[in-house]
Amino acid sequence: MKVRVPMMIQDEFTSEYKGMRLVEWTTIDGEQFLLDGPVTKRIAVLDFDPATGQLLPGVVFLPPQGDRDYGEYRIVDQNNIYSNDFIKASVFATVLKTMYMFEEPDNLGRPLTWAFDAPQLLVIPRAGEWANAYYERASHSLQFFHFPNRREQGKIVYTSLSRDIIAHETAHAILDGIVPHLYDAITPQSLALHEGIADLSALLMAFRSNELRQTVLDQTGGSIEKSTAFNSLAEEFGRALEASGRWGYLRNLLNQKTLCPDDKTLDPKGKPNRVPRAEPHELSEVITGALYAVMVKMHTALRRELAQKEKKSELSVSGKALYVSGERFKRMTLRAMDYLPPGEVSFADYGRAIIASDQASHPGDTQERNWLIDEFVNRCIVPNRESLQVETNFSSSEIEDIDLPSLVASDWYAYEFAEKHRNFLSIPGGVPFQVEPRLDVSKQYYHRGGDTPLVRECIFKVWWNQTEPNHLGRHYPGQRQITVGTTLAIDWETHRVRAVLTSDKSKHQEEREKQQQDRDHMLKKLVDQDLLRVGRYALGPDGHELRSVIRADVARDVMQVHSMAKMLHITGEV
Ligand SMILES: [Zn+2]
Repeated sequence: MKVRVPMMIQDEFTSEYKGMRLVEWTTIDGEQFLLDGPVTKRIAVLDFDPATGQLLPGVVFLPPQGDRDYGEYRIVDQNNIYSNDFIKASVFATVLKTMYMFEEPDNLGRPLTWAFDAPQLLVIPRAGEWANAYYERASHSLQFFHFPNRREQGKIVYTSLSRDIIAHETAHAILDGIVPHLYDAITPQSLALHEGIADLSALLMAFRSNELRQTVLDQTGGSIEKSTAFNSLAEEFGRALEASGRWGYLRNLLNQKTLCPDDKTLDPKGKPNRVPRAEPHELSEVITGALYAVMVKMHTALRRELAQKEKKSELSVSGKALYVSGERFKRMTLRAMDYLPPGEVSFADYGRAIIASDQASHPGDTQERNWLIDEFVNRCIVPNRESLQVETNFSSSEIEDIDLPSLVASDWYAYEFAEKHRNFLSIPGGVPFQVEPRLDVSKQYYHRGGDTPLVRECIFKVWWNQTEPNHLGRHYPGQRQITVGTTLAIDWETHRVRAVLTSDKSKHQEEREKQQQDRDHMLKKLVDQDLLRVGRYALGPDGHELRSVIRADVARDVMQVHSMAKMLHITGEV
């Protein structure tokens, strides 16, 4: 069943500023059913009366009329973006379009699943007055708040009317389904990755608007090398929060943010480019800055190539080049999520996952990977190029005679396989481990010659727990638990290993120590702010876990932290 729905192109401020329409129409196709709300099998938009808290009736679904093959939602005044009907329809469209982007055959190539045990993601477009928005696993929901605009008296900014913010929060929910360990991770870089991939998803969703793409490129002479509506995230939100000043965005992907300890340079706001290693929001700019720099190079190169091939000006092919390079960038950055090892991961782990998934399919095309490695080295994310080397497409005695259908279907077979090959999978002897449900996925690959083969692979993930010293003072346990693991990707046809990647850093002592120190610093900061509470101190008077703190449990002098990703919004940024 199809439905035509209006959707914000970006946000009201960006549209006015750029002289662009506010809204574009899009078709939602692929939901099993469409109900008033909007509600489908996978998402439900719930609108509560801000004054009474009562659930309000949903927007009415009008089934296809006459010879039309699509239905509509009844929006009384389609020109009023502030009407409840419009907000609900637009947020619905943006959430689903973001999900579809991840599910495409050349991306994950499969339907998404949620990290919580329920069919629907709940979407709350008017969650209350606050300058915030977030995904929360415990309540299965995306919460979008609204707040008065500090620059324009009487105006309200709805985070549910910003395409960037909706795509960003939806991506958090999607990522939680793909790599659930990131939600509990206590490594600042793991949390920063959640944040960074959410920002990149918002960028990719912006690239998909023909109108935004064309408007921006017309105004910049066909280039994204300088600041544009693409690299500055959540413009209206950022601008409305600052009463004055030029800088109206939340985060900027076009940046020189770095982990290099000796860097003394400043960003355009006058802040050091060197970011604190234990602050996930700021850290996320290092990874998004590195990747956006690669995206800019990909666009520039393709624009030049197309202009030569089609004998046109670079400006006239810049829109097409941005669309195509954006899609390549999507495949590089998001497909890698399937290769990411479980547990506490670093930016380097993510870099290796990108390189592995790209190299396994395009061993000859090294250009983009080299750009990526340059960025990772220049920003001191890794000490040298060798740190990002991964072996792909190799045969291995461990899987030569493996029965892949049994590995996917049978837990018993999968545990036997892991037990027998602990060494190959980096599982320490004697340690209990958990095997995740295996994935049998086929993904579409685009080769330079023009062919688009489907590659079928089995993704096998296994994880286990480790303990490490917990330097938080005498009121806290002396040890804490962390999770690490391994991802193995096997080519279904050739039985070769496409990649095997682990987050166990036993063999990388330096990286391990750094990550451990980063964890110490971040946890210490949370303790100082009274945001990390142990056991019953994390519960409210009603016995429920407090929303505004991170809960840790203790058993046998070992501390285990839960839902750490909550701190991404507790500390006040989307
Ligand atoms: Zn976020």
